[in-house]
Amino acid sequence: MGQQFGRRSWAEPWKIKMVEPLVTTTRGQRERALLEAGFNTFLLRSDDVYIDLLTDSGTSAMSDRQWAGMMLGDEAYAGSRNYYHLEAAVQQYYGYTHVLPTHQGRGAEHLISRVAIKPGQFVPGNMYFTTTRAHQELAGGTFVDVIIDEAHDPASSHPFKGDIDIAKLDALVAREGADRIAYISLAGTVNMAGGQPVSMANIKALRAWSDRHGIKLYLDATRLAENAFFIQEREPGYASHSVAQILREFCGYSDGAWMSAKKDSLVNIGGWLAVNDFALFEELRNLIVLYEGLHTYGGLAGRDMEALAIGIAESVQDDHMRSRIGQVRYLGELLEDWGIPIVQPVGGHAVFLDAKAFYPHLRQEEFPAQVLAAELYLDSGIRSMERGIASAGRDPKTGEHHVPKLELTRLTIPRRVYTQAHMDVVAESVKSVWDARAQARGLRMTYEPKYLRFFQARFERL
Ligand SMILES: *Cc1c(COP(=O)(O)O)cnc(C)c1O
Repeated sequence: MGQQFGRRSWAEPWKIKMVEPLVTTTRGQRERALLEAGFNTFLLRSDDVYIDLLTDSGTSAMSDRQWAGMMLGDEAYAGSRNYYHLEAAVQQYYGYTHVLPTHQGRGAEHLISRVAIKPGQFVPGNMYFTTTRAHQELAGGTFVDVIIDEAHDPASSHPFKGDIDIAKLDALVAREGADRIAYISLAGTVNMAGGQPVSMANIKALRAWSDRHGIKLYLDATRLAENAFFIQEREPGYASHSVAQILREFCGYSDGAWMSAKKDSLVNIGGWLAVNDFALFEELRNLIVLYEGLHTYGGLAGRDMEALAIGIAESVQDDHMRSRIGQVRYLGELLEDWGIPIVQPVGGHAVFLDAKAFYPHLRQEEFPAQVLAAELYLDSGIRSMERGIASAGRDPKTGEHHVPKLELTRLTIPRRVYTQAHMDVVAESVKSVWDARAQARGLRMTYEPKYLRFFQARFERL
């Protein structure tokens, strides 16, 4: 796949100005730290972590320009100039009319779910995301997965595994009626499917479908800039479009979006909610003062909004995206070369290890992806994350585990933080855990929180 970039290598379009020393630990220290953390990598202290691939959320390195922007914070309670810079950046690059800052993505998800979902309605989406579905359910909605079947198959090399299957939407309307559908919830790329993109053809078809049924189409824009890169690379007709052009066109087919700016936008905190309809905006603008803050800061400091406005512009640069996704792919290709089972094709923000294929001797109720994350940490101090049955949680109506087809451990690459040599070290550690796979034992959950259990759950070895 490296050939797709041409015969010349990509390289980072920046050089390093400041460094942060890494921590190394002994195996004995890691054993103790993991026991203390209840085998949950979310409960480790970062002081006990060597290479931190827990998440790409809020972990990016900001540029010198963004840091300079931090010094230009206008901390006025109301009408901060940084808010207007952020508003202009969202309008320019994403194309929406009305913009509200939020403290992060889930703040925006909370507001749109409360306003756009009536209790008892259904919310079809392209595979669930943890916080998105939780807010849709808290608002009285029922999430329905309408992603194409290929998304649930780690070995399928479909180029747009994030696409929605329109036949599944038709079936939902036939069963429940269009008035019981709150809106379509479309995310690109699809995190839980392995960072897989949605095609432009699919969102065009969804727009036409939505118009036919009078149903709104809202985007989870968290990794849409990465999604745009895949369209440029894979979709006929888009090779000569810039990432920025593709992003703008894609958003143009939707009615609004929520954003976790902690991902694509290269900041450590922030989010936004943007819609085109003024009446909806008025409702959201009113509600935001209860939960986030005044509509010109939404839980962010002025300096955060400035860094975000600059980060948005940096995030859509083609050379940035080429090295960003190139690095993720570099790691994926190393693992593939060693025959280690990963989700195909390699997605935008992470390499996903197929834990079922690592540990065929473990039942899914023994949390194989959680085991794999624990083993990787023990081997080298590298921190990854479970994206399997623990993340999937329970059905709020039946109380049973949601049992996802995909049982994955995610190696998430922060943007502009680690080097290619770090990726080599990561790959070698995964290889050593792969070689020792037959010895791994399952886990039992000993503490289970009610909401988003994967964050705080505790486990012990069987
Ligand atoms: C991270 C994320 C969110 C939630 O955003 P936060 O900033 O973590 O609150 C929503 N959707 C997707 C796809 C995400 O990856």
